[in-house]
Amino acid sequence: MSGAVLILSGPSGAGKSTIISKSEDRIGEFYFSISTTTREPRDGEIDGVDYHFVSKDEFERGIERGDFLEYAEVYGNYYGTSIKPVESALAEGKLVIFDIDVQGHRLIRERIESVTSIFITPPTLSELKRRLYSRSTDSKESIERRLESAKMEIKAIGEFDFVIINSDIDISVEHFVTIANSARLKFSKHDLEKLILHWENGD
Ligand code: 5GP
Repeated sequence: MSGAVLILSGPSGAGKSTIISKSEDRIGEFYFSISTTTREPRDGEIDGVDYHFVSKDEFERGIERGDFLEYAEVYGNYYGTSIKPVESALAEGKLVIFDIDVQGHRLIRERIESVTSIFITPPTLSELKRRLYSRSTDSKESIERRLESAKMEIKAIGEFDFVIINSDIDISVEHFVTIANSARLKFSKHDLEKLILHWENGD
């Protein structure tokens, strides 16, 4: 069977990365899609681990070459998902996890069948604001832009299969583990056709 796709969206500051890292040992083999971005690395972020950090020119050359499964402009910077590593991970039967915005979610849904998606958010806008200011990795201007964007993104919540309201991290991790393991059990039409053939003709 080919792998499965799990998309996480939600405002930055929702706790997506923390939830993934706390769930790592309980969701089987997975590949986290490392996006390419033109934004500046934050303190502590590592090129090739958190993102592939590139210049605007380099990103635009990637667009021309058709390197991206999807890309979007978020908070004034480009962010995109490279096709090749995702294809390889899916061919190896892995669960591929994406942390992308709501535009990316729409585009991937158009292109890949059998996607599972989760919108992750803090319980309120004021809680998001508190979290973004307390982690203090971004400028005031950048935080305000993220809050404005979050108000738009929340309107797309109905497009997602699941919602995690991250008020208690341990509960959110439990919910995430349940959804991630269920995502593996979703079959694409192609997989189902193969399954039927095998079911009819196998020993
Ligand atoms: P941050 O700058 O906080 O790391 O990410 C900003 C936003 O960009 C987040 O909502 C994140 O989900 C989104 N994002 C990160 N990588 C991608 C990507 O490859 N494609 C799209 N469409 N959005 C992305």
